[in-house]
Amino acid sequence: MGHESYRHFNVGFECGNKVLDTLMAEFTTAARSAMETGIATNHGTFFLCFVCLEGDLPAQAKMYHCKRTFLSVPHPMCPWCGADGDTIPFTDVRAGASWKATVGQDVPWTNKPPLADLTTNGEATFLAKDLFHIVNLGIGRTFLCSAICFLIYLGHFIPSNPDIGRSIPVRINEAYADFKHFVKHIMNTTPHVKHWSRENLGWKGPRDMPQVTFKASDTYLILSWLVDYLGRPFQANNYINNMLACAHGLDDFLRRCAKADRVFMTQTEARGAVKSLDEFLIHYVRLASDANQEGLVFFNLTPKLHYLDHIRLEMKGQLANQRILNPMAFSTAMAEDYVGRASVISRTPHQLAMPLRTAQKWLIETRLRWRGQR
Ligand SMILES: [Zn+2]
Repeated sequence: MGHESYRHFNVGFECGNKVLDTLMAEFTTAARSAMETGIATNHGTFFLCFVCLEGDLPAQAKMYHCKRTFLSVPHPMCPWCGADGDTIPFTDVRAGASWKATVGQDVPWTNKPPLADLTTNGEATFLAKDLFHIVNLGIGRTFLCSAICFLIYLGHFIPSNPDIGRSIPVRINEAYADFKHFVKHIMNTTPHVKHWSRENLGWKGPRDMPQVTFKASDTYLILSWLVDYLGRPFQANNYINNMLACAHGLDDFLRRCAKADRVFMTQTEARGAVKSLDEFLIHYVRLASDANQEGLVFFNLTPKLHYLDHIRLEMKGQLANQRILNPMAFSTAMAEDYVGRASVISRTPHQLAMPLRTAQKWLIETRLRWRGQR
């Protein structure tokens, strides 16, 4: 169903959407039947168990009628716990952070969503934590653009040609040239982003926190470049050391998740991933705090930093198990790709026939792909 068809029924996350809620109520009835009665086939009866709702944060908040969302700061802002921007700080990444005692204490909604019937008590654990939006399009990307701008602020990327000067736009160009050279010659690929500027780095002035809308695939490339760049022989200082630890921790964490089995990690893999996350989170908050103490606006502490801390907490809680869920199992990168492709093939049929025609065209596309004809 196209977004345009139901958008005007939106009345805020907490109250839900009449059209989506009706669809979800039907879905929940069918899902419960598939779980309790099963689906009879010639090969036996299959029972489907729905374990979570995957999706980006706005989609989950809408479907689950969340009263505590990423938009609620400084009020309680987390569907999974009672953290806020005040007395139970969501920015606390220490082992004894006060929000940890509030995890799962209260459901995130007041107006019960239909999907809550698929859970025991309608608890927020049904909302999967989506690494793709939390890191690649979230705090990972926020860190990278702050690091680029901050390095420029520190005086890096002076061009070798003195005639073009050393203004901030000139140094941003120089930084991009270094990045592009690395991506081309070391990673043998091409970045999606074709230039960096004050505008696309969202760095408009000393009072603006840098922020970007680069593609998720560029997050990996910029991260690899930054690990390489910060490893070059500079005169060490606290900021460089903390940025290097952050970049190294995040790169190592994503690498470990990507290399492990798609669903389960071993204890050794999970321990390594948790250690890398420790490195990233602790040094990121340190960078934010040091910059803030000097009155500098870099390294934004966003709700997604806190949601990533939940991923770390969940992994830590499973370390004694033989098999630990890979946090990448609930990443929506593939699902976004699926939605993107379905969206392209749904644009040509007549609007009334669109749902059926899209499904039919999808079957044809799938078959052609399996046969290697796509
Ligand atoms: Zn929380």
